[in-house]
Amino acid sequence: MPAIKFRGVDFIQYDSLLTDEERLVRDTTRQFIEENLIPIIEECNRAGRFPRELVKPMADLGFFGASLKGYGCAGMGNVEYGLMTQELERGDSGVRSFVSVQSGLVMYPIYEFGSDEQKQTWLPPMQKGEKLGCFGLTEPDFGSNPGGMRTRARKVGKEYVLNGEKMWITSGTIADVAVIWAKVESEDDKIRGFLVETDRPGFKADDIHGKWSLRASVTSGLSLQDVHIPESNLLPKTDGLKSPLMCLNQARYGIAWGALGAAMACYDCALQYSLLRKQWRDQPIASHQLVQDKLTWMISEITKAQLLVLQVGRLKDAGKVEHQHISMAKRNNVWMALECARLSRDILGANGVADDYPIMRHMMNLESVKTYEGTHDVHSLIIGQSVTGIDAF
Ligand SMILES: Cc1cc2nc3c(=O)[nH]c(=O)nc-3n(C[C@H](O)[C@H](O)[C@H](O)COP(=O)(O)OP(=O)(O)OC[C@H]3O[C@@H](n4cnc5c(N)ncnc54)[C@H](O)[C@@H]3O)c2cc1C
Repeated sequence: MPAIKFRGVDFIQYDSLLTDEERLVRDTTRQFIEENLIPIIEECNRAGRFPRELVKPMADLGFFGASLKGYGCAGMGNVEYGLMTQELERGDSGVRSFVSVQSGLVMYPIYEFGSDEQKQTWLPPMQKGEKLGCFGLTEPDFGSNPGGMRTRARKVGKEYVLNGEKMWITSGTIADVAVIWAKVESEDDKIRGFLVETDRPGFKADDIHGKWSLRASVTSGLSLQDVHIPESNLLPKTDGLKSPLMCLNQARYGIAWGALGAAMACYDCALQYSLLRKQWRDQPIASHQLVQDKLTWMISEITKAQLLVLQVGRLKDAGKVEHQHISMAKRNNVWMALECARLSRDILGANGVADDYPIMRHMMNLESVKTYEGTHDVHSLIIGQSVTGIDAF
């Protein structure tokens, strides 16, 4: 079977809805992924290795903090940013996760809630990929309900002392700085964000091994035991649980586009395979109605998902997006991508379970994507709350 190369997916002249600049960002990212990630990703996935060698080239293309303005950032529009994450995740969800964390979960909170000094210190080197970050919200006992967190910050003179455990933290062991969310004892346990340099005494990060998903991404547990930080490391504009939720909104938006990329990779691979693979009367399996039905389901759902994220992106550019819009895009597109991965795997038969093809890797990755940044069901509750006005958490 000849090698299958991604060709993009456009059923309804979707490209005509994009500007020249948006198409340029997408095509540049697609070419970068094709030339630099596709040749190594299966080896990385097998070895459980994050391709750190791509950090500098990704920084040079402006991928980090891409939608922020100033500090060397690219200042992309939200649709450009979305198309970039789509192409990154067409390569691999783990690499897209790394970029989402660096941009939406570390640079964004520094940009949004940080002091001028914090912005000057961290944003330029993070944009260049010289400093890496991680985002510590989830704890061993609190995931969907982060408000239950046990991590505490105690004010002592001109310092804060942090104690707690964080779990499932992307990039934890490769980060130079961690955005740590903690309850501040002197402020009635209000949740606030802190910048914690990872070389501070009492800070420890360990990788989580044995993941069957996002194997090309680093996932870690963090331990903070009497970690002293100067009071200037508090992100001054953080104000309760809504602050980390604002960060998650940024990252979820990128995930909604990213999952679309994974779905497109699976669909296009299955389509090409079905035209090459012959089984009965020397005819390709694509000639059977049941195979065509699966391809039809996928191209229809991908097309609907493209329109959904494009509209959410346009609303975001206009400053009119609501968090429930982003929840719908994340929930729908990740579910749709997982279904596409399963159908595509099926179309490839036994070949579908081997890493000669990208489908099983995307499927396993998408299981994490379905869970993180608000599980599928938590987003059901957010949308349900929005349409009924009733909180069902
Ligand atoms: C690979 C990976 C990387 C991650 N990276 C990060 C990171 O960088 N930073 C970070 O802070 N976190 C990160 N996470 C953690 C992730 O955000 C959490 O796993 C997620 O929020 C879910 O929490 P949980 O795993 O504790 O599941 P739980 O909250 O225990 O949920 C378990 C199940 O119960 C359901 N459930 C929970 N509450 C309700 C309810 N009210 N009604 C109905 N059903 C409910 C859920 O939908 C789910 O099906 C990562 C996770 C993974 C897998």
